[in-house]
Amino acid sequence: MKFRLLLALLVLPLGAQTTPFGTRVSDPAAAPATITAPAASPAASPAAAPAAGGVSAEFVDNSVQVSLFRPTLLPEAKSTRTFQLSKLNRLGSTETTKELQRLYSAFATQSIVDGSPAGSSKAVGYLTSVTYSILQDLGDNRYLAKAAWPASGPNEALAPGVDTMALLLLEKPAKAGDTGKITGMHVGTVSVLFTPDFAPLKGRRLTLRREAFLECATLEDSPAGLQRFVEAIVAGAELSATTNETIPCKKCGGLGFTREAQKGQLLDKRVPCADCASTGKLIISVETKFVP
Ligand SMILES: [Zn+2]
Repeated sequence: MKFRLLLALLVLPLGAQTTPFGTRVSDPAAAPATITAPAASPAASPAAAPAAGGVSAEFVDNSVQVSLFRPTLLPEAKSTRTFQLSKLNRLGSTETTKELQRLYSAFATQSIVDGSPAGSSKAVGYLTSVTYSILQDLGDNRYLAKAAWPASGPNEALAPGVDTMALLLLEKPAKAGDTGKITGMHVGTVSVLFTPDFAPLKGRRLTLRREAFLECATLEDSPAGLQRFVEAIVAGAELSATTNETIPCKKCGGLGFTREAQKGQLLDKRVPCADCASTGKLIISVETKFVP
């Protein structure tokens, strides 16, 4: 699944690409400061090959190359457990309707709707809401955009983006200047070699390294969605959800401190537990596997 999505993002049109939006300037503040490419600095521009004869020379290389620079790495769950549907609401069992609903909500936000036999797959990157304004069409539904998104994942593993350039793979064609909001799955950082057609970088061949997002839809978090989820598990689908759970600290047994015997004294010394910062609790990532 991940491979197919990445391929969709990285697939390279071999010929030079013409864009019908060559003169469009989306935003004069398209922040050169946020660009890491060497060609963005005036001192480096003589080194940029197409600029040698001036930007208005006969040939402008409009080809686009996108390559994966740093893939998304989802954290491994620290612990696994099983949720057995047949134990639901039995006396003394942890499998309650409320817990099932909570875990299904997590499952729904971690799954993307696709063309697989089950109708959805586990998201292979952090999902977040991306607000964008398109700067340039790079072909094959890939766009360079000014984008913003909130942090996602445990401990903000995906840092928030504020008015930064990003590469988007959209479901439907769009054009420079279009704005919108999508659910985006972060697929890592990509390296984009292209020729900007927007000011102030117009005509300079350069490489940007930017976060890349694929537009996708998450599962519906509704009673009907939960019903289909339960039916799929009963039919044998292997599904799981990852959540952060609070567990008692093992080192101090949930007390927040350990005891140290004091020579000649009746009472032990209490040593604050460093593992849990004296809270007696730890938050760990748990994968819950669902079984019939
Ligand atoms: Zn502790």
